[in-house]
Amino acid sequence: MLTNNLGYPRVGAQRELKKACEQYWAGKVSQHELFQVKSQLLKQNWLTQQAAGIDLIPSNDFSFYDQVLDMSLTVGNIPARYSPVLTQNKGNSELDLYFAMARGYQKDGLDVKAMEMTKWFDTNYHYIVPEFLPNQTFSLFSTKVFADFEESKQVLGHASKPVLLGPVSYLLLGKEKEAGFHRIELLQNLLPVYIQLLNQLRERGAVWVQFDEPFLAMDLTENEKKAYEYAYREIKRQCAGIKTLVATYFEGLHDNAALAATLPVCALHLDLVRAPQQLDQVLPLLSKKKSLSLGVVDGRNIWKNDYNQSLELLQQAIDQLGEERVMIAPSCSLLHVPFDLDLETKLSPEIKNWLAFAKQKLQEVGDLQRILHGDEALLLQNQQAAALRKQSALIHKPAVKARTAAITEQDAQRHSSFASRQQKQYEEFQLPLFPTTTIGSFPQTADIRQLRARLKKGELTQAQYEQEIERATEEVIRWQESLHLDVLVHGEFERNDMVEYFGELLEGFAFTQNGWVQSYGSRCVKPPVIYGDVSRPEAMTVRWSTYAQSLTSKLVKGMLTGPVTILQWSFVRDDQPRSETTLQIALAIRDEVVSLEESGIRIIQIDEPAIREGLPLRRAHWQAYLDWAIKAFRVSASGVKDETQIHTHMCYSEFNDIIASIADMDADVITMETSRSQMELLEAFADFAYPNEIGPGVYDIHSPRVPSVEEMVSLLEKAATLLPARNLWVNPDCGLKTRKWPETEESLKNMVQAARIVREKI
Ligand code: GLN
Ligand code: ZN
Repeated sequence: MLTNNLGYPRVGAQRELKKACEQYWAGKVSQHELFQVKSQLLKQNWLTQQAAGIDLIPSNDFSFYDQVLDMSLTVGNIPARYSPVLTQNKGNSELDLYFAMARGYQKDGLDVKAMEMTKWFDTNYHYIVPEFLPNQTFSLFSTKVFADFEESKQVLGHASKPVLLGPVSYLLLGKEKEAGFHRIELLQNLLPVYIQLLNQLRERGAVWVQFDEPFLAMDLTENEKKAYEYAYREIKRQCAGIKTLVATYFEGLHDNAALAATLPVCALHLDLVRAPQQLDQVLPLLSKKKSLSLGVVDGRNIWKNDYNQSLELLQQAIDQLGEERVMIAPSCSLLHVPFDLDLETKLSPEIKNWLAFAKQKLQEVGDLQRILHGDEALLLQNQQAAALRKQSALIHKPAVKARTAAITEQDAQRHSSFASRQQKQYEEFQLPLFPTTTIGSFPQTADIRQLRARLKKGELTQAQYEQEIERATEEVIRWQESLHLDVLVHGEFERNDMVEYFGELLEGFAFTQNGWVQSYGSRCVKPPVIYGDVSRPEAMTVRWSTYAQSLTSKLVKGMLTGPVTILQWSFVRDDQPRSETTLQIALAIRDEVVSLEESGIRIIQIDEPAIREGLPLRRAHWQAYLDWAIKAFRVSASGVKDETQIHTHMCYSEFNDIIASIADMDADVITMETSRSQMELLEAFADFAYPNEIGPGVYDIHSPRVPSVEEMVSLLEKAATLLPARNLWVNPDCGLKTRKWPETEESLKNMVQAARIVREKI
């Protein structure tokens, strides 16, 4: 029985890689120094895995930016616009080309934008999207795979298991840059490079090679299924003597089970955390001699493994296949969990005893093997920790559970229909047509961020801190008044982050000091941990919203983060369904909404930018998710009277498929991202005859560019041809937190001007 690991976090315990890369980009360290940091990190990672008793230790799972981009360089898939980076400046290296593709390049008279980036399945990791052209050919370019393999041999004293993104998933992750072909047709051209890679790896002493093929667990077309058969048949035919392991994760195989179980490879890896029931399905289908790698330790969340549950699955496989055909593994690469729990010195010991980060998860894999070989004590310890968690008073609040159990249909329902709410709100607010507003945050300057740092260090008292935040808020209120915006916001200066801020004020959340997870490139996030029943001990935003409202006779919009987004951007407890946790958060937000209303706030925005990204990977699971996600939003929004206007905001809004659910949220106003697609998205809303009010973003806040009055007028005119003018709002795409003041001022001035012009024209 082998122990197997699919991948390890690469930023380092202290985010060393992040720091080294950023210094390299700033020209402060040499490439040689950057590679030294890499070698140091790799060495630590490999030795940690060896010490934990892992048999199949991955190499080539390290990346300076992204493993998909690594694969593009390996197979020589480099869009032509990046070639000048090497030809025009002879001093540039392969690494400079690589970073140019990742981050764009503006030097030596060149100006190339970065390649597109998108989310890696349903994680918060982002990869660089490969680009494909008709009849494109490939050839071995970067030899990083070999270099890392050789380096691992030095450190480990034996062969590691190189990890390659499998050829079918590599193609499917990309995008056609021209019409008239499907990228899967390039498989024939691509495979020879893989075969060359494999044969060279074998010559260098590799025994096992891992192919990541997460698409095997997704919805596939017939053609894509055939591509799988073809690819692995060819690999087997042309690369005798190498042991191939195909790794699937993030979903169950479902209808692809027979395909995966009979692929001509030596081992198949299953994610038994996401889909434990697939073991029953796969075992009888598995072709003779094939090994099964059982992903029983959760690579996506931070809880201690429940050994009893894992042992049951392992034993079932052992009974059918025999020990020698079974591997024990984490469910997916450990890239998605923080590095090392031992570094957390401030977590309560009780909570810490429930958790496992990457390093501890390796230990768990080893423990499971030791228990199967008779070490009873380890099992006992684990059961004790699980029992303590089950009964902990920190987690279980009967009053919270009773309250979610008592939620009624009515709690998820505004008092009156939208049409009658709209009439009442119209009479209350007397807003002009095309009312102008913003999405919530204004530039978080270094000054503002420093205030929080100084408060933490004790250099400012709470009172001094609040005084400074009040000053910033007052300034931004005055400034919005002078601009003649119709609905003002308080600016969110008191917030570090839209989820962390609420997590810190809610019960049931814990925070780590060092729980960083890579999001993209050198960017890491530190998600809060939802460990227990969630409740709101006291009002969270009333103080800031009422302060802002007290300064002005204009309407100030209250600003909250919605339940699905809070859930989606946290590590979530695994001892109850996600839907239950979301409803608890929804009730807490509902209480805040009611408190805001009671304090005189008449417009309240509940941000839900993460609703779309929470969609399950398989279409068959969408509806069940949407049912509870939309219900949670409605519960949070429905505690108020008809005259109180509820807004919601979403970014990255590819809603075409789920527009009915968006309408079902029944927000009085939805603001969203549309400017980059020239209002294309609105067509879907028009086709659906979306009844409520909409603020389609009229300019892109992700860039410092200042939009002209004319272009925003024309976007609004286009919007008015699609939807009734009385339903339209005027606002930017998203919050302005990451922008600088000068461009914000100019852009919003132009936006208000554009609204005026359109009002007169229509
Ligand atoms: N209200 C938030 C802000 O303006 C919304 C951010 C978001 O959608 N991601 O910053
Ligand atoms: Zn947004």
